[in-house]
Amino acid sequence: MLIDSHAHLTMSRFDADREDVLSRARAAGVAYVVTVAAEQADWARVVALAQTHKAEGIYAAVGLHPHEASSLTEEMCRELIVWAADPRVVGLGEMGFDFHYRHSPAVAQEAAFRRQIGIAREVGLPVVVHSREAEEETIRVLQEERASEVGGVLHCFSGNLEMARAALDLGFFISFSGSLTFKNADALREVAAALPIERILIETDCPYLAPQPVRGKRNEPAHVRHVAEALSALHGLAPEDIGRMTSHNAMQLFSIGSLESEGKIAYRIRDSLYLNITNRCSNACGFCVRNVSDFVKGHQLRLAEEPTADAVIHAVGDPTACREVVFCGYGEPLLRLDLVKTVSAWVKQRGGRVRVNTNGQGRLIHGRNILPELEGLVDAYSVSLNAESEAQYLEICRPDSGPGTYEAVKAFIREARRHAEVSVTVVNLPGVDVERCRRIAEEELHVGFRLRYYDEVG
Ligand code: SF4
Repeated sequence: MLIDSHAHLTMSRFDADREDVLSRARAAGVAYVVTVAAEQADWARVVALAQTHKAEGIYAAVGLHPHEASSLTEEMCRELIVWAADPRVVGLGEMGFDFHYRHSPAVAQEAAFRRQIGIAREVGLPVVVHSREAEEETIRVLQEERASEVGGVLHCFSGNLEMARAALDLGFFISFSGSLTFKNADALREVAAALPIERILIETDCPYLAPQPVRGKRNEPAHVRHVAEALSALHGLAPEDIGRMTSHNAMQLFSIGSLESEGKIAYRIRDSLYLNITNRCSNACGFCVRNVSDFVKGHQLRLAEEPTADAVIHAVGDPTACREVVFCGYGEPLLRLDLVKTVSAWVKQRGGRVRVNTNGQGRLIHGRNILPELEGLVDAYSVSLNAESEAQYLEICRPDSGPGTYEAVKAFIREARRHAEVSVTVVNLPGVDVERCRRIAEEELHVGFRLRYYDEVG
């Protein structure tokens, strides 16, 4: 599934074959398109297109582009408010600054930008922001006009990392277009690689900015998949993961479609199949995704009830269709040791590979050394260490078992090495000495080390 979060479908360049363009978008997996009006004459057209093409997943945004800023009047603002009330309108914009062309004076651009953010707050819609060569000014206006109250997106992002991070701090999303695929866009790709995928949207901005494989031609929503592919290479994820996650983000921002309501038992990321068997955990980490979201990488994981072993096996299907089956999910899998043993035995009998992502507290949870029981069933363990000392572990992970847990986790890691491959993960939380953790993993515990990023879940 893909969402083209910013297109201009009402432009005359689509008049000859608009229906064909929409058919190709559906065939390419584009479930929704937000078609954006940048001038007053287009407001009625985008709303009409969205109303007549509900089945094709078309939604609209209405606003005034900075090029047109000097034409904004209070009468136009009243009209904009009327259009914004249409149920198919999901955003206000595009608005902002364009200091590259300066078709309107800077003062008029700023006034129109501020006025439209005010309207967005009045009608409760997120803002769609255009910003070109105006990084500091854009962030300053968004801050001063309290745009964080409605949220929004910096569309067709072309700014630097500092600007992107400032926008994320305001709760905004960053949207990348086909320009991410251009040969001379290394700086933009560095920015895209540094941002959490949970805050990224993708778009075509069609008919402009056709991505690299079709560059020079008229762009259209079906080509948004090339942006997803470029991001997948930057983030080490499959294009399907990028499509699912950026679609989830766009659905959240624009309140379109319906987010999954049932927790998944099995879910795919890259070429691994993850199993979600419990939402319980023997830790209460302050950074845990369960505190803030039901979703991990676009998958709903909050279970209404814990699945049986049969249900998990059914959800796995063919265990050789993925690189590995990973007990991970949204809690501590070794709390359900019997189920892990049953399902792992089934996977191994069918030629699959098993990894367990764990907090390493299996011995404390069950009051015995459980690792020999998993011999031959589990090929690899990935253990969250997350701290360089007992005191820090207690502060970060807040384990049920209290003092002594950190040393017990380290003992689990040492013992696990005798039975399977083992690696340790550490989240780069403020205050954690990552290099010291790496030395503990590699030199003291003699296992692999992987850094996980604080703002990246799953
Ligand atoms: S160990 Fe993992 S699942 Fe448990 S609280 Fe910490 S982050 Fe959450």
